[in-house]
Amino acid sequence: MADLLISRFNNISYGEPAILSEKNPVTKKNEKFLTWPEMLDHMDTGSALDPSKMHVYAPFGAKDYDIHRYIARLFLGVVETTADFEQDKKGNATQVHLNIAGEYEDHEERFEKIALRFASEYGDFMARDPFDRPPLPSQTIEIHPKGFGDPTQGQSNTPEYIVDQSRRFVNFPRLRSWFYEWERISYAVLKKSVDCTDDLVDDIKIKSICGETAATSESLIRSKIRQHNSADIQVRRTETFPALLPNSLAGYCWSLMARELTANVEYEACTRRFDTACERRSDEPLCQCTLPSSAPTLQSGNRIMHCCDRCRWAANKAA
Ligand SMILES: [Zn+2]
Ligand SMILES: [Zn+2]
Repeated sequence: MADLLISRFNNISYGEPAILSEKNPVTKKNEKFLTWPEMLDHMDTGSALDPSKMHVYAPFGAKDYDIHRYIARLFLGVVETTADFEQDKKGNATQVHLNIAGEYEDHEERFEKIALRFASEYGDFMARDPFDRPPLPSQTIEIHPKGFGDPTQGQSNTPEYIVDQSRRFVNFPRLRSWFYEWERISYAVLKKSVDCTDDLVDDIKIKSICGETAATSESLIRSKIRQHNSADIQVRRTETFPALLPNSLAGYCWSLMARELTANVEYEACTRRFDTACERRSDEPLCQCTLPSSAPTLQSGNRIMHCCDRCRWAANKAA
């Protein structure tokens, strides 16, 4: 089966992330957004960019080939869920359900913490370049102070302006969108872990309309690939290969998942798993990495043996 290639991209962020809250004009409720306040300031004021605040995260290397699995660990580690498994007589899983305990609001506070830490290490999850996504213009409100326009009162004719900063980041992804994206990724990883994945790939209900058949629903992996990726080609010498170009880390995660589900890519634990303090994943004291049977890029040919240099050194020493 053909391998599924993923094109390189950079995930850009600026300054430190923060959670901001704003009233959603549709639901009239306050929604939380994960965004980069210094970047918003820069967009509002046109101030010069400070190179020291620019972070570029390039998610290509053995250490990042299992970031979707890391996200599942993070999510299932802080959000209380129950998983129901159904199995056939041979013990093979036939159905898996992942249920979140309570409502989204019950988990928001804890989720906020892991999302913020993730964002400061890796950048945004839903957009690879937030500068590409200009916030809505701020509203400027004119204020006429008392005695405005009366020179005998020593007042100037110039009104004061204040900038109303609400609504300006409403087109940034809501924290809720991160949450449900991570929940879907965790669900897919969980299903893959018990090899119960058919419905992730083809959950298409065929309906006959006027004698013709039409797909009425998309499988999870197809809809996520379409939502978060663009098409691309990669070129090696004179050969070209179709590839997926992620629009964001979300797209990267779903592309990695698609390789597992559709391109026979298998993941195995790093030989130093649970033994060595890995360079990755600042919140995991010992390596928990898994490595894919093939890299998603054209360049890397050899089998991927270790997640990072530290694990490689430890394995060589142990040998
Ligand atoms: Zn590791
Ligand atoms: Zn390792």
